Amino acid sequence: MRYGSVVPLVTARALSAREFTYELPDGAGKGAVVTVPFGRSRARGVVVEVVDAAPLGVTPLPVEKVVHELPPALVDLALWIAEYYGSTPARALELVAPVRRQRRKEQSSPVERQSLEGEAAPAQLRPDQEQALARIAEGGRFLLYGPTGSGKTEVYLQAAAAALERGLGTIVLVPEIALAPQTVGRFRTRFGDSVALLHSGLTDAERRDERERIARGEARIVVGARSAIFAPMHGLGLICVDEEHDQSYKQESDPRYDARTVAAKRAALEGATVVYGSATPRPESWAALERLELRERIGARLPPVRIVDLRREAGYPLSAPLLAGLGEIAENGGKAILLLNRRGIAPALHCRACGTTFRCPDCDVALVLHRDEALRCHHCGHAEPSPSECPVCRSVELARIGAGTQRLERELAERVPELELIRLDADTAGRPEELARALRRFRDTDRAVLLGTQMVAKGHHFAGVALAAVVDADTGLGLPDLRAEERTFQLVTQLAGRSGRDAPGRVIVQTFQPDARPLALAARHDVPRFLADELERRRELGYPPFRHLVRVLVTSPSERSGLKLLEELRAGLDGDLLGPAPLFRIRGKYRAQLVAKTDEPRRLAARTARLLAAAAPAMRRAGLTAVVDVDPQSL
Ligand code: ADP
Ligand code: ZN
Ligand code: ZN
Repeated sequence: MRYGSVVPLVTARALSAREFTYELPDGAGKGAVVTVPFGRSRARGVVVEVVDAAPLGVTPLPVEKVVHELPPALVDLALWIAEYYGSTPARALELVAPVRRQRRKEQSSPVERQSLEGEAAPAQLRPDQEQALARIAEGGRFLLYGPTGSGKTEVYLQAAAAALERGLGTIVLVPEIALAPQTVGRFRTRFGDSVALLHSGLTDAERRDERERIARGEARIVVGARSAIFAPMHGLGLICVDEEHDQSYKQESDPRYDARTVAAKRAALEGATVVYGSATPRPESWAALERLELRERIGARLPPVRIVDLRREAGYPLSAPLLAGLGEIAENGGKAILLLNRRGIAPALHCRACGTTFRCPDCDVALVLHRDEALRCHHCGHAEPSPSECPVCRSVELARIGAGTQRLERELAERVPELELIRLDADTAGRPEELARALRRFRDTDRAVLLGTQMVAKGHHFAGVALAAVVDADTGLGLPDLRAEERTFQLVTQLAGRSGRDAPGRVIVQTFQPDARPLALAARHDVPRFLADELERRRELGYPPFRHLVRVLVTSPSERSGLKLLEELRAGLDGDLLGPAPLFRIRGKYRAQLVAKTDEPRRLAARTARLLAAAAPAMRRAGLTAVVDVDPQSL
């Protein structure tokens, strides 16, 4: 008789950490998704191990039904995720075995509806593309680094074709599928029905159909967002992670996995190759991966970037140079993209006269102005009273400079009424169809301005973009995050890549800090310099990739109770601990965090989880909740 250890996919944390033994039918092995009798009802579960004997004194019940089979490697992957990210096996297994809905009527596949038409393969690859492909064919993990339009996507396509020739499948991850209809279209043009699409915008039935096509081996190329890394593909040969610097690869709810790390793990388990591609790679990837470089943009030069010093310009948010650029478009035609990345975080304090941003002396992050007029560090809890004058130049003009996308839209309508305005932010483009409609309108309209949050800087290739502008580059720099400079650099460089792909383009960056390193280096398109400096800074501070971070975030009904819990936690942990530091309140809840720098994130996360489990009853009574985030992407 064969038995299987089954993890029932139930949500209760107490149960979801356990395995139960059942009698297996013939043929069912590790990776089988089954229905089993469980308590007084039944549950869905996954066989995580086949065993010869049942535990002593247990008479296992038989499995009721085998629903389908997952590649066994996905079971190992899920169990690894549960451990590394401090989740439970059941929750991690839900990622690889999502609930399946009933069959539905035939309908056009999402790939057909959600892709733009692609282009044919180029007659000849460039030497640097050939070189990259030759290395990729040898296997391993690589960083494919090259400016926007340098032919990275073509390398993914060719590498996928090579894998297919050897009978192996490919997973292509893109940050947000709604922003990548062109990428999807190119894969579809090249590989036809062999392409499947997976992302959260699909209906349950669509997802089920796509997963079945993948599991049956009909679809050998999967294009999708973060969760597509769990595609039930057998014989995986290649994973491409496009725009690998993008934050959306991190899931911000339990299990808090990072698809880029999971990609590396899955590739290691299945002997596959990974290609991480970006024009603005993460310092982590720059330091750790073999670099394959595509040196030049195909068909056009990178556009010149002009930095506009807002200390010397009236008229924010529309400075004279920016208005002049927009006026030219109104007159001669063309398109403009304006980025104003105003997110819902209390901004930092700037000096209007000299551009100083107030920073934490210990953490090298910007201090955040709180309601109580204190400047606080969200890393370590350092606090100082908000100054009445600038400590550098004595100016009393300290300000949070502010304009959101709506104010910008109003000013544009007044100042350049000839231009058609298309706003793109979470308010106007919440759903994929709205987003697609806005992008189509922009593509088809001359004298149009696409304005919005960081969405506008991502992945689109539009013809005729004569001007790209960052309206307020200080927004990002002011964020209290160790990655603030990295993100600003990426955003400015990415936006610059949207301009002048087919016509001479221009880029304008408005800032109160024209000398800020990320802006100056982005203006020169100097990615290697920025990353070298950034890595040096991270080394000094003991930040990733030199050490790992583990973050414990507590929400509580009072400020004191949350901080007290973290103080107790801190006493039970060793290592390099920052905090507890209070964070700003969200929805009436107080929040606080403890951040650890460590070389052993798994051990530290496991210890934290044990301490939290012990405190759970008291926490429940006091209304406290806690999450542990391993390798957090924002703080
Ligand atoms: P990236 O992914 O780096 O932005 P793409 O792969 O999209 O770059 O390439 C940019 C443009 O250049 C595309 O239109 C693509 O078809 C074209 N292209 C790519 N490789 C070549 C090549 N070897 N010869 C000619 N055109 C190419
Ligand atoms: Zn000053
Ligand atoms: Zn600090």
